[in-house]
Amino acid sequence: ETNLVYARSLIRTIQDYPQPGVAFRDITPLLGDGKALRAVAHGLLDQASTSFDVVAGIEARGFIFAGAVAAIADTGMLPIRKAGKLPVPAHQISYDKEYGPDTLEVSPELKPGMRVLLIDDILATGGTLKAGADLIELAGAQVAGVGVVMELEGLGGRRVMPQTQALFTM
Ligand code: 5GP
Repeated sequence: ETNLVYARSLIRTIQDYPQPGVAFRDITPLLGDGKALRAVAHGLLDQASTSFDVVAGIEARGFIFAGAVAAIADTGMLPIRKAGKLPVPAHQISYDKEYGPDTLEVSPELKPGMRVLLIDDILATGGTLKAGADLIELAGAQVAGVGVVMELEGLGGRRVMPQTQALFTM
């Protein structure tokens, strides 16, 4: 689809950010463009191959896309947040990141049995999405699908989260 090709072209690569040796994929120009943002939101919805009750997004860039998808899918959106940010956390999970452990939390709006479409901006090593998926299951809900805007190849994320559907690969 031409609008998706256009959206992909707006992803900017910043060398040595946030640290030397990292090529950071910056989605900010894509967000700032109405045609691109709409194409990505519809792309994320279209690639979801199963039905779902709610869209969950992982802090912070996952919120943006999960909210956009939920709005066009006519479902609610659930923020999966870093520890301490939700006034009413119901479930939490800790996982190992590159520079130590991190914790994700979700509110009680995530109910047992719900079918959840889990969204983030990027699949890199897969640790973040894996923690999100584990958190959903810990709450007794079901991961109906996993979607990202972009998959970074060569970082192992596909092995950790093989069910992930990616709009773009870089
Ligand atoms: P992972 O846990 O798969 O290694 O990393 C994925 C998480 O880190 C995502 O939440 C994503 O927002 C962030 N991330 C890692 N690399 C990049 C990048 O190059 N660009 C952006 N925008 N986010 C990244």
